[in-house]
Amino acid sequence: CVRSVGPKGNKFHFINKFRKMERTYIMIKPDGVQRGLVGEIIKRFEQKGYKLVAMKLWSPPREFMEKHYADLSSKGFFAGLINYMTSGPVVSMVWEGANVVLEGRKMLGATKPTDSAMGTIRGDFCIEVGRNICHGSDSVESANAEIALWFPDGVSEWDSCESAWIYE
Ligand code: ADP
Repeated sequence: CVRSVGPKGNKFHFINKFRKMERTYIMIKPDGVQRGLVGEIIKRFEQKGYKLVAMKLWSPPREFMEKHYADLSSKGFFAGLINYMTSGPVVSMVWEGANVVLEGRKMLGATKPTDSAMGTIRGDFCIEVGRNICHGSDSVESANAEIALWFPDGVSEWDSCESAWIYE
């Protein structure tokens, strides 16, 4: 356990360090970067209470993006997807928190913006599936594989002073 001054009056608040925290890979696609939505997307994850443990802006080569989307290589839209995803820099991030894989997907919204609820990132900021602003891992297993692919040197381990105000 970690002892910290938390929302329990003047008593010490204990946070169970062994509580199961997940990590997910979230990527702001080239259209999200070009449209100035980087701050908005980061803000939503921060304000929800998730912890940023890795981030970089870069333009990965085509082969790298093909590896990330290998599961979709048989789809008719694959070449267009890779052209889109390599058309400018992306922001790669790892966010940590309880149930962050599923909850992160909810925050992004459905793959097709027309199916995305208002209030989600895709529901609020985009129109077409081929320009849907952001990516989020769809399972814990794919999150682990994507984090290993995009951040082979690992992520930052740090204790957030907010934890005691976010988890009971
Ligand atoms: P998600 O990104 O929600 O996990 P998928 O893994 O099914 O969805 O698809 C990956 C990405 O491929 C989508 O986010 C979108 O950018 C693109 N895509 C999916 N379906 C289509 C389509 N029918 N036409 C064009 N692009 C598509």
